[in-house]
Amino acid sequence: MLNPAQQQVLDELGSTDRPRFRDELRHDLRSYLEEEVDEAVAGADEALFLSKHQLGLLHGCEARFVAERSVPFAWTIASARGSVAHKAIELMVTHRHTPTPLDLVERALDRIEDDEFSLGGFLRGLDEGERAELASRANDFVTTFMETFPPLARRWKPVSEYSLRALLCADRLTLRGKVDLSLGYVRNGGEAGKVLIDLKTGQPGHGHLEDLRFYALLETLKMGVPPRLLVNYYLDAGTPRSEAVTEDLLWSAARRVVDGVRLLTDLTGAGARDPRPVAGFNCRWCPINDECAEGRQFLDGSDQDDWRPS
Ligand code: SF4
Repeated sequence: MLNPAQQQVLDELGSTDRPRFRDELRHDLRSYLEEEVDEAVAGADEALFLSKHQLGLLHGCEARFVAERSVPFAWTIASARGSVAHKAIELMVTHRHTPTPLDLVERALDRIEDDEFSLGGFLRGLDEGERAELASRANDFVTTFMETFPPLARRWKPVSEYSLRALLCADRLTLRGKVDLSLGYVRNGGEAGKVLIDLKTGQPGHGHLEDLRFYALLETLKMGVPPRLLVNYYLDAGTPRSEAVTEDLLWSAARRVVDGVRLLTDLTGAGARDPRPVAGFNCRWCPINDECAEGRQFLDGSDQDDWRPS
């Protein structure tokens, strides 16, 4: 039996309404994207890659986008928490029994430590206290998920860390993303049934909606059938915020990508123009916030207690 929080999620995500979209939509979106960015992509020095994070920065603060490109990414316990928790949820999806959240987190840590990727190296370098702190934070995330989200039924075909990629302009442009959780599937050849879910901590933000719309576009380019529903699930509040996918939403996402690619080529390579700084709450996590005048002015005048990472 579900608790009230789980029932709310099930009520919001579950539906027997399975919309159908035009068969030509995938082709139309791809043609639009390739035609609109062709000139920018052809003039770039190298193949281009665009993720939801980079797209968000390009439409947010250009100066931070440029700064992050020159600063090598370094894992921290805070940034590793989400990856460990997502791995634990991935293991939960395929587990045949009912493990505790901490069991899942410990197994996730063991699995990640064994791999050769950068997060594996970061975990192997932690001392016992740091590893315990990371396990504790990830356990909080996974426990809240298990308590407030309905148990994932196998018939929903759940996929954790669902990867999406679109290759455009003869592979000169790659759009890529990874959805925290995908539920459902395309039915009867073309009925939209998939729900794409991002798991969030902290405050809801407009950028979270844009991230999911970008994923919906990638899913449409991949499958030919859009997802049915986009959901940001806010763990701290046990609250889903959902948005139905429409053709207008997909075109809006495509226009945002076109603008993002043009900004990307404006700001990188030979002849790049100076980036514009746009201060806001995200200044707190910017790698150059101690040297950026706009960022410092914003941070000095804001109540930082209101900010929480998402
Ligand atoms: S501190 Fe703020 S305004 Fe300055 S570059 Fe970073 S995000 Fe942009």
